[in-house]
Amino acid sequence: MLKGKVAIVTGSTSGIGLGIARSLASVGADLMLNGFGEPDAIEAARESVRAAGADRVEHDAADLARPEQVRGLVERTVGELGRVDVLVNNAGIQHTAPVESFPPERWDAVIAINLSSVFHAIAAALPVMRANGWGRIINVASTHGLVGSVHKSAYVAAKHGVLGLTKVVALETATTPITCNAICPGWVLTPMVERQIADLAVRDRLDPQRAAERLLAEKQPSLQFATPEQIGTLAVFLVSEAAAQIRGAALPVDGGWLAQ
Ligand code: NAD
Repeated sequence: MLKGKVAIVTGSTSGIGLGIARSLASVGADLMLNGFGEPDAIEAARESVRAAGADRVEHDAADLARPEQVRGLVERTVGELGRVDVLVNNAGIQHTAPVESFPPERWDAVIAINLSSVFHAIAAALPVMRANGWGRIINVASTHGLVGSVHKSAYVAAKHGVLGLTKVVALETATTPITCNAICPGWVLTPMVERQIADLAVRDRLDPQRAAERLLAEKQPSLQFATPEQIGTLAVFLVSEAAAQIRGAALPVDGGWLAQ
């Protein structure tokens, strides 16, 4: 389906982004990976995306907290891989604290990486997609794009912002073969969530297994984690022709979190 096409997946050295990159590779896309990590871990991620089916896999270490680096990521992708057809804005960070003691520099970092980078990447990639006459933009938001949780002011504000941006971009591209949508995962067991489970284990004096069960029980009625592969498979659907008239949508993969 994506043979000859190029996808950028931000934050794809780990977790959900790596799952999405593998899924897009499995339908033939060439990949520009992005994200932090040790050289060996990044090489292993590249190799796993190649093994999933991509002919060409590059990695760019752009720091998405810096607007000029976000725009540079898109420019380098065109330079190295020749085009950009699919942009998946996935990179994200978390910080938890009550709003009155939320460190301002963590607020700025969460907004920069989780929200502003999505704007800069879309602004840089859209002219390339318009020139190609086709494109898919997928923003990885969260259930926290639609509802709140305590101690996550910056994250919830950023993810609500991502859904607003998704709608506007969908409207501005509505008469073109370019679509823009968001995926809203509930809990997915990735390094980001493993850190939250570890914090809960300390706070409530639980072993990691019990802490994970408590985390799920608080929000996710299925009591099961969604997987990066499930998110990746939805991304592949959004790229397909069957999804050409899905525009500006926020699609949950959340074990029932938002049904409550
Ligand atoms: P993760 O921590 O496993 O991966 C985050 C990725 O982003 C890594 O590749 C990391 O290197 C990269 N990254 C972080 N800061 C960066 C920066 N400044 N510049 C470039 N890359 C950077 O997290 P994850 O759980 O896979 O999360 C991926 C996305 O999914 C995030 O947007 C997150 O908010 C969202 N999400 C996750 C869950 C979940 O339960 N895991 C739920 C809902 C939404």
